[in-house]
Amino acid sequence: MNVIKVLSENVANKIAAGEVIERPASIVKELVENSLDAGAKNIEIVIRHGGKSLIRISDDGCGMGPQDAEIAFKRYATSKITEASDLFEIESFGFRGEALPSIAAVSRVRMVTREKKSSVGTEVSIEGGKLQGVKEAACALGTTIEVRDLFFNTPARRKFLKSDTTETGHLEEAIANLALSRLDVRFVLTVSDKKVFDLLPGETLTQRAAAVLGKDYEKNFLEIEANAPGLKLRGLIGKPSACRANRTGQIFFINSRWVRAFSLGHGLQAGYHGLLMHGQFPVAVLFLDVDLSRVDVNVH
Ligand code: ADP
Ligand code: MG
Repeated sequence: MNVIKVLSENVANKIAAGEVIERPASIVKELVENSLDAGAKNIEIVIRHGGKSLIRISDDGCGMGPQDAEIAFKRYATSKITEASDLFEIESFGFRGEALPSIAAVSRVRMVTREKKSSVGTEVSIEGGKLQGVKEAACALGTTIEVRDLFFNTPARRKFLKSDTTETGHLEEAIANLALSRLDVRFVLTVSDKKVFDLLPGETLTQRAAAVLGKDYEKNFLEIEANAPGLKLRGLIGKPSACRANRTGQIFFINSRWVRAFSLGHGLQAGYHGLLMHGQFPVAVLFLDVDLSRVDVNVH
């Protein structure tokens, strides 16, 4: 008798959710990246209970038609690549087509979306991966996704979430990092009915970095730019006097994508050799641009 079975899409999505969605901040990151990929210029994020009870992201991006709105929640459904060769030239944040199905597998999701060419929008509801309904809905151009009751159907994972305050901290960090890479976009974050930040489009990197890292930094940053064959480095470095006791003020981007990069952290530290004491770490917001074909698409 056969013992090997191919898993159903629902089970596969729950497993994928285990990797894609570690905590509420991962959901916000995926959804905001989708908004940016959709060309949004205004992104509003509303959070309650550290994102456990509610995450709502509204954008004014391209929106989706009724069919795309439903297909978007299928596994491996993406508008961003069609061929494996596209993997070598990825300019969008997403391409795996895993975020929406993974999020919908472990929460209650309601999405309303409208594209420019239609006068009426579409509302899609999904709970624990099961489609509840698709109907016409009046809405502004763009997309709003509401994610409620994260991990309601996977209590073991719900238990591993940290306090609302801790999860909110991770959320704010994720949004701030995205906001630093897109100065042309407005980001508004409201946590438990309180506006935490409203980052206006057109701010300089210094202004936005100060809004994110602390007002004091505004006068303690130096702008830098350096080039080498196939590499460009630009951004802000803090004066030695504005250092921290840990690496929390070091934010790195490769081709505008935020990364955790210990090697860049070491390089930065080496650049301050002789200027800092043991246990002091420079603050920096640095963008490294590399030829697209030289970057592993899995970089994160
Ligand atoms: P990926 O981003 O890897 O393509 P996702 O599961 O995150 O996969 O999204 C699936 C598809 O749904 C996207 O490729 C895009 O076409 C569409 N989509 C998702 N979010 C939005 C949005 N906010 N605005 C417009 N289209 C969206
Ligand atoms: Mg995506």
